[in-house]
This record gives sequence, structure tokens and C-alpha cells, in this order.
Amino acid sequence: NELILDIDDLSVIYKTDLETVKAVNGINLKIGKGKTLGLVGETGAGKTTTALSILKLLPENTGKVTSGNVKFEGTNLLEMNEHEIREIRGGQIAMVFQDPMTSLNPVMTVGDQIAEAIIMHNEGLSKGEIEKRIDEKLTMVGILPSRKTEYPHQFSGGMKQRVVIAMALACEPKLLIADEPTTALDVTIQAQVLMMIKELRNRLGTSMLMITHDLGVVAKICDDVAVMYAGEIVEAGTVHDIFLGEDHHPYTEGLFGSIPNLSSRTKRLNSIPGLMPDPTNLPEGCIFAPRCKYCMDICIRVHPNTVFDETHSLKCHLFDGKLRRDKQEGKSEK
Ligand code: SF4
Repeated sequence: NELILDIDDLSVIYKTDLETVKAVNGINLKIGKGKTLGLVGETGAGKTTTALSILKLLPENTGKVTSGNVKFEGTNLLEMNEHEIREIRGGQIAMVFQDPMTSLNPVMTVGDQIAEAIIMHNEGLSKGEIEKRIDEKLTMVGILPSRKTEYPHQFSGGMKQRVVIAMALACEPKLLIADEPTTALDVTIQAQVLMMIKELRNRLGTSMLMITHDLGVVAKICDDVAVMYAGEIVEAGTVHDIFLGEDHHPYTEGLFGSIPNLSSRTKRLNSIPGLMPDPTNLPEGCIFAPRCKYCMDICIRVHPNTVFDETHSLKCHLFDGKLRRDKQEGKSEK
């Protein structure tokens, strides 16, 4: 499958006078054309930093990419200047954030905001054509076009997020990055918005990076999954590998709980005892060692490499050189 996005060895730090936070450490992620990749993990794992890096939206004074490439259809976005990346942002790659008000201007009508998104990447459209496109986009997300003269505060939370999605889709992006797009919504509305995203994706063939805490979201709409922990991708594979496969990173196992059946896994991430390591002072060996019930001597000393098979990868000493492990809880010889 041809790739739309290929992230290779990406590392990102946040640097202040006082400390350096290692937010993302040498990650690789690939999204095939028309595919949806779910990026899962706890808060603070580096998921949003990864998304912001793709579009060069890291905070200017503190955020810095220290290694890697982010290739979008073969072109390295990280080498683009501000003018070039602006052409890509909101045009070929659009982003939807958790809080719709991050993207909406409270003093502009929703119609004008969608128009702005359309005009930014389609100069020369007539007024009539723009109006037609606004109506089309609103209809697409289930909002009556007659509401385009209203302001964001006149819409409910779920409707606001629909407007944001209409704006994101206004330029028919090839890649949509959705960062927890339904987390701030009521549960019933979450399901509706999610179904809508899924339908639109299927209809438009948009590729997607879906950042989420919610395993139900992953099971429902993703093709592939990457599990992120303390700035690293510790496991990645197809939805089938992650939900139904036998081999898992101990962190994934903890997140998903231990009951091996798909329906019981389609809920929120489990909480795992302990805390993520301090990103200003990461462990020398495996980053999950302080919380891992399978921790061995080697784990404390040596950072594990990633092992792969065709669709699945894992970064853990239990899998050194193979993807079938001999798991013995509490035994720690190696
Ligand atoms: Fe646990 Fe060791 Fe694997 Fe890290 S490398 S997840 S500590 S078994």
C-alpha cells in the first residue's frame, strides 16, 4: 500500500532555561493511503506533540524537532518553510482538536469561517460557488445550511465539533489529523460524531491519524494502531494484531486489560499502577521497566530494540529476535 505519511526517527524536545523535556524519542509511524491509524496512549505520552510536529505547529520558543523526517507523499514537511507548510495546513492536511473552540472564532458566523477555509486554498472561486460549497459541507456533517448565519455559541458542543469537521473537510484534505475529536462531547453525541467521521472518511477516501484514549474508537474506525508510551512507540500493528493477536507489549497488555475478547476490550484504557517516567530524566533501559510486571535485569540496563514481523512491531526484551514470547511473570533472569 502506498504511504501518505511516513514518519521516520522523529524526536522532539521542549527546552526551557530550567529543563529539557524529551517528549518524542525516535518514533516511526506509517499511514497508508486511505487508511486510518489510531495513536493510543495515556496523557503525556507524546501523541499531541507528534501531531503538532507533523504540521510544524510546536510552540515556537520551546518546542524543537531534534531528529527525523516527516514525509507527506514523499516530501519532507520538516524541511518546508513557513509559506510552504501553510499551503499544506488546512489544505492537504487538516487538523481537528479536542476542543472545538480551539478552531472556531466566536465573533464570526460559521458560514464565514467555512468560507475562509475554502478561499484560503481555492482562490478565484465566485461568491456563488463559495456559498454552494459552504452549504454542501454543512449538509455533509448534518447541519442545515440555513444555520450558516449563526455564531458558534448558538451551537451545542457536538454541533460545534461538526462545524469544525466541516471546516477541516472544506478543502478536501488528503490527510485528516483528529486529536481526541470526541473526548469533550457527551457519550451519545460522541457516537454520532464518530459515525459521521467514519462515513465521511469512507466517502471521501481521506487518510486519517486518529489520536485517542478510547479503544472503542480504535476498534470501530482504525485499520492500524500504534501504542505510545513516554515518547516511544512500544507496539504497532493492524487492529487485528492489537486486539486479537497473542503477542503484546506489557504496556499494551496493561492498557487493554487481560480479558481476551474483543467486546470487553472496546472500552476506555485501563489504568496501570505507577506513573509514566519523568520526561526530563528517562530511564536508561526500558522506559516501561518501573511499571512492568515482567521486568528482567536486562530491562533496567539496556534499551530494547524494536522487532518486526510483516504487520506487527514490538519494543520489548521479551521479544528479542522473535515475536513469540515465553512469558513468566515475576521471573527475572536473562
Ligand atoms: Fe517489561 Fe522488560 Fe519488556 Fe520493558 S523490556 S516492557 S521492562 S519486559
